[in-house]
Amino acid sequence: MSALPQHMNEPSPAPASPSEEARRSAAEARSALGWTHTARFLTTASALSELPPTELAEVAFVGRSNAGKSTAINALAQQKRLAFASKTPGRTQHINLFELGPKLAPDTLFADLPGYGYAAVERNAKLRWQRVMADYLEVRRSLSAIVMLVDSRLGFTPLDLQLLEFVTPRLAGGAVKMLVLLTKSDKHNRAAMTAALAKAGETLAILSAGSADVSVAPFSALNKSGVSDAAVWLHRATRARIIVEASA
Ligand code: GDP
Repeated sequence: MSALPQHMNEPSPAPASPSEEARRSAAEARSALGWTHTARFLTTASALSELPPTELAEVAFVGRSNAGKSTAINALAQQKRLAFASKTPGRTQHINLFELGPKLAPDTLFADLPGYGYAAVERNAKLRWQRVMADYLEVRRSLSAIVMLVDSRLGFTPLDLQLLEFVTPRLAGGAVKMLVLLTKSDKHNRAAMTAALAKAGETLAILSAGSADVSVAPFSALNKSGVSDAAVWLHRATRARIIVEASA
């Protein structure tokens, strides 16, 4: 993610020297990471109806079990145990909400959605949770951005592709933005990571053709690479929010 897209509503910055640009991006990364660090647990819900209505921008984190979602949320928040990184994949079956911004004036929610695709979960439970996820992604009005965590060694699995297809209508026109993080990039050398990014980019290009705002980037919680870029992306995406009513 070398070039993060500039949002339309932001004033164009004055032309800057390379050192001035580096200073500005370092300052933006610091402020974005300071913001993600404010994340704190708000509530947990086992059904859509239990989620509090909100006017705050909301970012949904989705991914296959074991893709590295909890670890990524912890890395972004620079906290060890904010999201529960379960040793038993598929165990976290609730939607967990985290609040960000000043304590008295929160500005954003992160929604950690249940991981999918864990084979050992009993079929009925699986179906019920797929429905909760689907309902959430379809109707949650405050949804501003989706972060999809994909294990860079596996690429998109059939369930990831189903989810992408499912959220495509909400991505149209950029109303909801999407960031795909290819996790565990530390397990690859540079050439393999470049190939994984290119392959994911090809799949996502189909979505972007419909003027969706979709980015893909490498991410490693282990060596912290991609963490500040992701924080900057989230910061920009939530500041540029437009509330749209999801079509039922
Ligand atoms: P979740 O089920 O998607 O929430 O996945 P977790 O965050 O619990 O991570 C699943 C497994 O992947 C755990 O064993 C983590 O330690 C490991 N993992 C997560 N992120 C990274 C990473 O950046 N690098 C490496 N090498 N392992 C990771």
